[in-house]
Amino acid sequence: MKERGKGPCAGCKLLRRKCVKDCIFAPYFPAEESQKFLTVHKIFGASNVTKMLQELPESQRTDAVSAMAYEANARVRDPVYGCVGAISSLQSQVDSLQAQLALAQAELLQFRLLHHHRPPPPSSVAAVNSPTSKHLSAVNLSCDGGAGDSLWSY
Ligand SMILES: [Zn+2]
Repeated sequence: MKERGKGPCAGCKLLRRKCVKDCIFAPYFPAEESQKFLTVHKIFGASNVTKMLQELPESQRTDAVSAMAYEANARVRDPVYGCVGAISSLQSQVDSLQAQLALAQAELLQFRLLHHHRPPPPSSVAAVNSPTSKHLSAVNLSCDGGAGDSLWSY
């Protein structure tokens, strides 16, 4: 191996093997991120990481490595729950905040009902008993009465 620029990737350096041209680790574990590979290797094992990456299309490998690195770091910090511990802690925060929000919204609604309730303006009351509607019902009554029909009955 001559002057190959950066040298072996973090994976090959740790595993003490030759970093070939199409090394599967090289794009995701550059030499300067040795701790990232070390943690992922410790939790998942290098051969499993290789298998998982080989099973994925290249477009998804970056995300997969990020997920593995996140999960591995979480498991180092919390060997029992790993990232599930972080997720459940965040979920309980969400639950608590949603309860607070519901309470605040209920208080807001109560406030609006107490302080902004006004009787309907006089104009709308007048419209219900308008002279027009009285007039119409009077016309209907007179038509139903016998007066109109009696005119034609003769
Ligand atoms: Zn390599």
